[in-house]
Amino acid sequence: MSAPTCLFCKIVAGTIPATLVAESDHSVAFRDIDPQAPSHVLVIPRRHVQNVGELAEHPARLADLFRLAARVADEEGLDRGYRLVANTGSEGGQVVFHAHVHVLGGRRMGWPPG
Ligand code: AMP
Ligand code: ZN
Repeated sequence: MSAPTCLFCKIVAGTIPATLVAESDHSVAFRDIDPQAPSHVLVIPRRHVQNVGELAEHPARLADLFRLAARVADEEGLDRGYRLVANTGSEGGQVVFHAHVHVLGGRRMGWPPG
């Protein structure tokens, strides 16, 4: 399933360009257009769901996404650590309502997040 107006569905379909960094059976990873760290990659499921909570209804796809996120972190050389972020809902800072996990690394992360 893909949502016709969804930005990330268009990236999966290839109708909007993105810098892909890795792919797996159920997931795609590409560079964030507005990076917040030296490494900032988004990992998304190929099939449209709104957020990671909905993705959790599909355990194989959820696991595939987190496996790809770990692979991206490895390939980006983030051996000193990295942060996975899943903004969920408007108050959680979610802007694009196609599930995604941010992989952020290459600098020390602050806590608490803003
Ligand atoms: P969120 O706020 O968690 O929904 O994150 C959405 C992310 O998508 C933001 O970090 C944006 O910079 C990023 N973004 C928006 N449009 C694009 C695009 N065309 N290609 C890559 N990343 C994008
Ligand atoms: Zn979508």
